[in-house]
Amino acid sequence: MSTLDGREGPRDECGVFGIYGPGHDVSRLAYFALYALQHRGQESAGIAAADVGGHIMTLRDLGLVNQVFDEQKLRALGGDMAVGHVRYSTTGSNGWDNAQPVHRSDRREVALGHNGNLINAVELHTELRERGLSFRSTSDSEIIAALLASHEAERIEDAAAEVVPRLKGAFSTVLMTKDNVVAFRDPAGLRPLVLGRIGERYCVASESCALDIIGAELVRDVAPGEMVSIGADGLQTRQLVTGAREAFCIFEYIYFARPDSRMGGDVLQAARGRMGEILAREAPAPNADLVIPVPDSGAPAARGYARASGLPQDDGLIKNRYVGRTFIQPGQELRKHGLRLKFNPLPEIVGGRSIVVVDDSIVRGNTTRQIVEMLRDAGAREVHMRISAPPIKHPCHYGVDMSTREEMIAHGRDVDEIARELNCDSLAYLSLEGVYEAVRGDRERHCDACFSGRYPLAGTDDANGKYALELPLVRA
Ligand code: SF4
Repeated sequence: MSTLDGREGPRDECGVFGIYGPGHDVSRLAYFALYALQHRGQESAGIAAADVGGHIMTLRDLGLVNQVFDEQKLRALGGDMAVGHVRYSTTGSNGWDNAQPVHRSDRREVALGHNGNLINAVELHTELRERGLSFRSTSDSEIIAALLASHEAERIEDAAAEVVPRLKGAFSTVLMTKDNVVAFRDPAGLRPLVLGRIGERYCVASESCALDIIGAELVRDVAPGEMVSIGADGLQTRQLVTGAREAFCIFEYIYFARPDSRMGGDVLQAARGRMGEILAREAPAPNADLVIPVPDSGAPAARGYARASGLPQDDGLIKNRYVGRTFIQPGQELRKHGLRLKFNPLPEIVGGRSIVVVDDSIVRGNTTRQIVEMLRDAGAREVHMRISAPPIKHPCHYGVDMSTREEMIAHGRDVDEIARELNCDSLAYLSLEGVYEAVRGDRERHCDACFSGRYPLAGTDDANGKYALELPLVRA
């Protein structure tokens, strides 16, 4: 993964938002909600809006939310309800056709945004094509849209009640018809989805930080397997699937979600701080002089580590806050300087000292290796890496792009071997037990497969990779 775009960590996924709000400037609310969810996907953004009973208008494009939309476009998207989406591709490559919301009008008009990944996408896609449906994209989200748009049930809620049990995998989904906004979450609740209230109206979003920005209050999580429907009759809910094993993604707590979002009743900044405290208990660095975070993601855990260890904390790496994705290639000369585009070490802080560096995860290790080298170049005497998550060894099949197993630095290596690869003086990871202690969660209700290899859903295998749908399409 490029170091130019900021992270070489796992790439999320998507963010979704939906509102039924006659009397509100719904596309503007969707814009700001997506703006707050930008961390969940930077490849494309889109909003669909409609008057009740009118036609759905969809605007989507590659780029960040503020690149895709301007005042004029938002005005053109007026209406009573809206759904929005930010995307990082999981199934399907990152072309325009795969930007969302997906818009279909088979039997009924539907605009749909999806966060997650279907593990039975290929089977469903084949079945729908055999029924004569054609597809414009290679995203599994269009499969869900096609199933719902072509369903013969009169009401969208009844269509969803039949379609949702057929979907396997992770799907926090929000869609609109001409009449209402409907959202549902997969039976395991792998990806987050919350219900909010703004005045007398309701909205749904991937994370509570999207509610904060538009002045909506958090009502509750949408339950795993639940559907919420918001329309002229207010809020209606239906439990579509019961009795499934819950499997909320533990990585949302560690890395994906914004620290000001609330999950499991707790603000993530606090949970991440506890991860750092527990890491200090599990993996002390008694002779170190100073704790520094890898900004910004390592900051809450670094503060926790410093608090629990009694070591002072400072910023030894300064981050360029304005680095976004750049499509300009650095060229040979600049490539040598690599990460300095994003981080700059401070010799005045780290010089001559033994440093504990706290980050929240390592996937391939390229960024970490460069950080260690950069700190040594800046004069650090010792570099002790402390990671507030266990080693990532297995790919995610539930909506997160983690690289292949072979690219993961922890694949087939023990911690000492990884430390040698990274050229650090010591390396330690937070234990899985430590993660659950920090989030005050129950392992049987979460997914931790990228650490443990224990996939919570039957039928999860490597067959449904990121480009799974493109093979049948190419063959067709
Ligand atoms: S495999 Fe990892 S990233 Fe994927 S859902 Fe499970 S915990 Fe989350």
